[in-house]
Amino acid sequence: MFKLSEEQQEIVELVREYATDKIAPLAEEIDHEGRFPRENIEGLTEMGFMGLCIPEEYGGIGMDELTKSLVIIELAKACASTAVIVDVHYLVSDIIMHMANEEQKSKYLPMAAEGKLGAFCLTEPGAGSDAGGLRTKAVKNGNDYILNGQKCFITNCGPNEGDYFVVIALTDPEKKTHGGMTAFLVDRDNPGLSIGKTENKMGIKGSETSELWLTDCRVPETAILGKIGDGFKIAMIGLDGGRIGIASQAVGIAEGALAEAVKYAGERIQFGKPIAANQGLQWYIAEMATRTEAAKMLVYEAADLRERGEDCTKVAAMAKLFAGEAACFVTDLALQIHGGYGYMKDYAIERMYRDARITRIYEGTSEVQKMVIARSVMKR
Ligand SMILES: Cc1cc2nc3c(=O)[nH]c(=O)nc-3n(C[C@H](O)[C@H](O)[C@H](O)COP(=O)(O)OP(=O)(O)OC[C@H]3O[C@@H](n4cnc5c(N)ncnc54)[C@H](O)[C@@H]3O)c2cc1C
Repeated sequence: MFKLSEEQQEIVELVREYATDKIAPLAEEIDHEGRFPRENIEGLTEMGFMGLCIPEEYGGIGMDELTKSLVIIELAKACASTAVIVDVHYLVSDIIMHMANEEQKSKYLPMAAEGKLGAFCLTEPGAGSDAGGLRTKAVKNGNDYILNGQKCFITNCGPNEGDYFVVIALTDPEKKTHGGMTAFLVDRDNPGLSIGKTENKMGIKGSETSELWLTDCRVPETAILGKIGDGFKIAMIGLDGGRIGIASQAVGIAEGALAEAVKYAGERIQFGKPIAANQGLQWYIAEMATRTEAAKMLVYEAADLRERGEDCTKVAAMAKLFAGEAACFVTDLALQIHGGYGYMKDYAIERMYRDARITRIYEGTSEVQKMVIARSVMKR
């Protein structure tokens, strides 16, 4: 069983207090206005949380994988938009920590710890679940590479957000996922990089999601992460961590929705008693709590495997699949428990219900997680 260390518990308490006092009160406004929660990111930077897993020598606080999940869970309980911004930022920091050379680490990790946001750019209009459909090309030109292509649905990418981008591009179109892709670090101020349409989403409306255009975007050879041909491997390593992160976000949303449902059920009087007195609703609560807890245990296991450097692909996919489905189940029943009031924007559950839905889609859909799990279980 998992027992949190004293340091992990302290961090959970710190982030919970900050999320409850500062982040939660802004969540409704951020959702309503669809605005980036800059003040949350600044506050989290001040507390050291934007560099949570970055080693101290690069300005971070050097914590472990499980602590990352614990932080995301607490943030998602208060504001799912803030949670995904931080989660994608952690994913990019993680890729840099594991795949970058010393020069790249010294440049980007201190920036990340200071709250400069990273974005991960894999998806394209023709390449969603199937990364093999990638079209963005990187062509060698002297000591440089010239990138051309279009990325879409990129988190931490918007008119005002995104300071550096991990871009996966084809360097050998014939080979595709088998060594034909390379990862590049591209800076925001590169003249060949531009931000396209920013999406108007159903939920997580405080997180900016945009197109990214690369037009004769020249980067030096030193912008390559790892080696030529490592791109798909880097994307998959990133996605293992990213999936644990989104599963953590889903657990946080579910915990937040469960708490709202319990509170409301205790306060709402019908037929002369609180609706919580009805066994039918108690069974809802029991199922919601059980699925949330089970999802959390899968998150803990996946994070623990990853921390120990073991293969976590299957369990990370299971955590993402189960937690995403649980978050949608729990928010749906929590809304049901609120009756008509749950359908109104006056109650947080309306936002949580919309926010939960994305956790079954990004970082690989539920169907894709099943493909990954089956492949691993059946060893195919
Ligand atoms: C808000 C948001 C933020 C995002 N952030 C990022 C980001 O930061 N970086 C990034 O690179 N991407 C990002 N994405 C992209 C996201 O990862 C993709 O949307 C997702 O992987 C699905 O791809 P798709 O939308 O093209 O759907 P498709 O791949 O077209 O899938 C459509 C449907 O078909 C199903 N399907 C597809 N293939 C199969 C199959 N073989 N078997 C069974 N079912 C299948 C899918 O499960 C899905 O239900 C983001 C997306 C959103 C919506």
